[in-house]
Amino acid sequence: MGCLDEKQVNIIVNGHEPNLFESIIASVNDPKLLKEAEKAGAEGINILGMCCSGAEVLSRHGVPHAGNFMSTEAVLITGAVDCMAVDVQCIMPALAPLAECYGTKFFTTNPRAKMEGAQHIEFDEFKPRQCSDKIVKEAIGRFKNRKVPIVIPQNKSLGIHGFSHEYINYMLGGTFRASYVPLNDNIINGRIRGVVGVVGCTNPRVRQDYVHVELVKELIKNDILVVQTGCSQIALAKAGLMKPDASVLAGDGLQEVCETVGMPPVLGLGSCVDNSRILIACAEMVKTGGLGDSIADLPVAGVAPEWYSEKAIAIGQYVVASGIYTVFGVTFPTIADTKFHNLLFDGLEKQGFGKWGFAKEPDQMAAMIIDHIDKKREALGIMGERERVLMDMADRQALEVEEAAE
Ligand code: SF4
Repeated sequence: MGCLDEKQVNIIVNGHEPNLFESIIASVNDPKLLKEAEKAGAEGINILGMCCSGAEVLSRHGVPHAGNFMSTEAVLITGAVDCMAVDVQCIMPALAPLAECYGTKFFTTNPRAKMEGAQHIEFDEFKPRQCSDKIVKEAIGRFKNRKVPIVIPQNKSLGIHGFSHEYINYMLGGTFRASYVPLNDNIINGRIRGVVGVVGCTNPRVRQDYVHVELVKELIKNDILVVQTGCSQIALAKAGLMKPDASVLAGDGLQEVCETVGMPPVLGLGSCVDNSRILIACAEMVKTGGLGDSIADLPVAGVAPEWYSEKAIAIGQYVVASGIYTVFGVTFPTIADTKFHNLLFDGLEKQGFGKWGFAKEPDQMAAMIIDHIDKKREALGIMGERERVLMDMADRQALEVEEAAE
């Protein structure tokens, strides 16, 4: 929240559809609207993201992020938010009356998600600026007429985000030799024990961010590279784990890889609807070779430790169907020991898919995931760490002589 700026018009966009956010970015860079903000006495227009819309533009444009799902009400209490615009999903029902208390303009934009107490400015995909320009003008109007005291917590965290599956290629293989080979090599030689996607929501039934942060710390300590989407990565960014120097918290093997490449041990890939990017990365690992014939063979897992959104279940199921062990926390919507529950938690794996798991505490989740990864490493025959032998010229010449003799 330290990215809010009292001297500027502050606009927050929250939801899931990047087109609203893209259009607002265009509006806040319009010289006419910037002039209007200046006339109102503002030093500029400050745009921030929240939840998954925010995670998307954080990755694509480096727009600062003001907090995950559990912060969406709290941010209004700063009094500094001149306007909040939302589209669909993860919009707390109390936002409209809360915004009213602070004089913050609150807009819904999607015809499927209107809210009592909110002003609706419909977003037309063919004329997007009609909606976003109006939102920006309304925000400038509120800036001029601010009536509440402003208290901005002065906390900012730096993070490196935007590791798409395409970028991982370049990060590991270099500009000219883009490849997943270094990742697979380091999994095979044991420096990286496995890869886990820690993704999704923050849940009001548990202490904010606690399960995400403790789980990720335990995983990286055990040499597991973590990839992230959604609100989870904001929890880890606040905890300082999305920076390269966080590699000091990783086990020796993962730390060595992170330091060599200059990457954090926790990689943010985008919003919660970008979990498909993680699956594409898994498919690339299989295609690169050395780690089995399908995603189900890889030493990987997925976990949504604080899921709450119904779509998390749909995402979890396609991850399981793709062959990945997937652990959920807080609650699970099936009844233990029923035929259906047993199919999800056991039967699917026997059919060659992944399977579901459930645990509440971060250390339990980490233990289950590490056991699974070790089981997969055992099956691949890469359980023991194998040191890479560095060859000098004499070793190479000896090899060439041997090959020629054969
Ligand atoms: S990660 Fe979950 S809580 Fe966060 S925006 Fe996405 S669906 Fe909502």
